[in-house]
Amino acid sequence: MTQQTSQAMDDLLTDLRAALPPHTLVTDPTERDTYACDGLAAYRVRPGLVVLVDTAEQVAATVRACARHHVPFVARGSGTGLSGGALPHADGVLVVTSRLRTLHEVRPQDQRAVADPGVINLQVSKAANPHGYYFAPDPSSQQICSIGGNVAENSGGAHCLKYGFTAGHVLSLEVVTPDGEQVTLGTEAPDAPGYDLLGAFVGSEGTLGIATRATLRLTRMPEDVRTCLAGFASTDEAGSATSAIIAAGVVPAAIEIMDALAIEAAEKAVSCGYPEGAGAVLVIELDGPEVEVAHELERVRQLCDEHGCSEFRAATDAAERAEIWKGRKSAFAAVGRISPDYIVQDGVVPRTSLPDVLREMGRISRERGVRVANVFHAGDGNLHPLVLFDASQNGATERAEEVSGMILDLCIEHGGSITGEHGVGADKARYMPRMFSEEDLDTMQLVRCAFDPAHLANPGKIYPTPRMCGERPRVVHAADEPVVAGAEVF
Ligand SMILES: Cc1cc2nc3c(=O)[nH]c(=O)nc-3n(C[C@H](O)[C@H](O)[C@H](O)COP(=O)(O)OP(=O)(O)OC[C@H]3O[C@@H](n4cnc5c(N)ncnc54)[C@H](O)[C@@H]3O)c2cc1C
Repeated sequence: MTQQTSQAMDDLLTDLRAALPPHTLVTDPTERDTYACDGLAAYRVRPGLVVLVDTAEQVAATVRACARHHVPFVARGSGTGLSGGALPHADGVLVVTSRLRTLHEVRPQDQRAVADPGVINLQVSKAANPHGYYFAPDPSSQQICSIGGNVAENSGGAHCLKYGFTAGHVLSLEVVTPDGEQVTLGTEAPDAPGYDLLGAFVGSEGTLGIATRATLRLTRMPEDVRTCLAGFASTDEAGSATSAIIAAGVVPAAIEIMDALAIEAAEKAVSCGYPEGAGAVLVIELDGPEVEVAHELERVRQLCDEHGCSEFRAATDAAERAEIWKGRKSAFAAVGRISPDYIVQDGVVPRTSLPDVLREMGRISRERGVRVANVFHAGDGNLHPLVLFDASQNGATERAEEVSGMILDLCIEHGGSITGEHGVGADKARYMPRMFSEEDLDTMQLVRCAFDPAHLANPGKIYPTPRMCGERPRVVHAADEPVVAGAEVF
């Protein structure tokens, strides 16, 4: 910390002590260490100060003080992000929204819920279920991740194939802008005149300000849900079956693929009873009116058969449904059964490229001697390759990181992207130039400059080289760089 930044932090603290109750300010270094990382624990930075806000007004007061003293701030929800998006700033303030946890309204009559940013994703559905509704975006972390984090990451989940990502389920947001002003973006009306500033904010990873309240769209619970499991000899066949199902006009609520390694891990962890010897399985969920679901189930069965399905099983009740999902839901953690360490990668490709990309990934994996397990949202083409390694072996971490990067290159080559749903954060900023030209990156940052000319909101994230709006060089000095202790280990 330079003398100048240390003085700025001292002045900021004096202001915040006058404006906020003492219990909101965390100054003790050991306590601050608790917030040094998000779900990507390989990146760690002790925040300069942590503020545990109780109200939106306290968020605004904190951000206004940051603006006054030119101190950067980072928003944090539940800290489950996997790309280092909530990685703190060493000379900045971490604004933690987890105490803002009131679900203000559930209005089934007009399919709306109004939630604080710290409300847990699943809490919204639990409150809406008795009225026949739920909140559709369902990241696998939905038992712990927050609405604010979902908005900032435009999070997806298994059912986003049919129901879309968070962006389609947020109607308006109350936001504290980087100069500390409280504004509303979007309206409850279906279409409003003017630029879509709400659209710009959703997915902006905390770089345009802090969301303090969200009006969410609720979705009607379907009349019927059927979940099935289809076993195939290879991911090629499973991928082709996926494309054929969607090309036939059936839009399942979810289609998830697991390859042989992922199945092996899930079997070891939870004995999920997936087809023996299968090279890949599809978990397919259909929902909607009962007659439609019955018809679609037969069509899906037929298409799976035509694409070499060796075993097809449809659940008949909730218990059997849960049994089918058990393997898929435990898969990430289960990989620990077959490898001491692994990197969770996240990329996306057009669905029809899946067989090619998986084949190429297999080739890279064999050539480099690095195993890759695959569990992913096949319907969206959203890949989550798990790159397995043993950090205790010489050079293994570096090889795994190299393979991980090569997989992202593959995604780009096939017209996809370096992130499907986990965001860019601090981790993938370095990959952005592989996908975008300098001009592209400059143009994107013009949006940021309009919201945040002083570059205080979550600096060092998304963009490898911060540009324009008269940024001062200190924004990227060495002390701001995260400490990277090898790849992520789960
Ligand atoms: C086991 C596991 C499974 C996961 N599965 C999925 C999945 O299926 N799909 C998926 O999309 N993601 C998934 N994730 C990633 C993560 O859970 C999501 O990105 C989630 O939305 C992050 O929410 P959070 O509250 O933890 O946010 P955090 O990690 O706290 O923050 C994430 C980003 O949001 C910003 N932010 C947080 N709150 C606000 C706010 N109020 N205003 C502005 N910016 C804010 C932060 O600055 C940061 O950039 C998974 C993570 C884990 C650990």
